[in-house]
Amino acid sequence: MPALSDVIAALDDLWPPEWAERWDAVGTVCGDPDAEVNRVLIAVDPVREIADEAVELGADLLLTHHPLYLRGTNTVWAGTFKGRVVHTLIRNDIALHVAHTNADRADPGVSDALAGAIGLRVVAPLVPDPADPTGRRGLGRICELDAPEPLARFVRRVAAGLPATAQGVRAAGDPERPIRTVAVCGGSGDSLFDEVRAAGVDAYVTADLRHHPASEAVQHGALDGGPALVDAAHWATEWPWCEQAAAELDAVSERHGWGLRVHVSRTVTDPWTTHAASAPADGAAPTTDTGAPN
Ligand SMILES: [Zn+2]
Repeated sequence: MPALSDVIAALDDLWPPEWAERWDAVGTVCGDPDAEVNRVLIAVDPVREIADEAVELGADLLLTHHPLYLRGTNTVWAGTFKGRVVHTLIRNDIALHVAHTNADRADPGVSDALAGAIGLRVVAPLVPDPADPTGRRGLGRICELDAPEPLARFVRRVAAGLPATAQGVRAAGDPERPIRTVAVCGGSGDSLFDEVRAAGVDAYVTADLRHHPASEAVQHGALDGGPALVDAAHWATEWPWCEQAAAELDAVSERHGWGLRVHVSRTVTDPWTTHAASAPADGAAPTTDTGAPN
């Protein structure tokens, strides 16, 4: 069995920490470099349910996309939820490692997994990493559908391709509008509107779209044919990366003869847990999809 330090070196090969944004906090949060690793659990969020799942599974390493501590802390007291996670993990000899914006920027990265989950063919990064001579790394992806389809059907495709959440998937734009080229960005993507507009795509799939940026994008789009917006749950847009990461780690394990047992958590850790479609006005049928989880 490999030592944790060997597995971490392999993770850093897949998602080099230097690819992370400056504000990010990636890498190993806890763990003993000399401990042996057999079972690995991969999840989006390092929250209590996931730490408990790692314990039940008998995992030696928990790999998450989101950092536990994004900013510095001066306590791991178990009276805080983050401290409780640290205590649970250390008491059960489970290491925690984070690959966040370094995994976003990688090739394949988080947005490749998102594109794959909804059946899109990746053409190029949305924001290429200037340090990458191959031009394949970067934030977001520009993608294509094999054949155009109306926005309403495309939204159902996104909902069907991603794991179910209470939020479901909502969209802004004419439901009949044909969609063929698509930009995707796993996680909160409203900082990339300018790049999406410059790419000239028909739709943008991301998460956490807020009223004002979305409203302005729609208003602009009405003038110059900017993209329809497709908003899914943050967790759902990043979860496909867990399966992609598991396949990559399995391949590394096979190459080294490590015999790692890599698991992907299916626990939904999106914070939103309930959704109700608005009641139709005047008893009329709703004109759009209810957005209910499928
Ligand atoms: Zn995220």
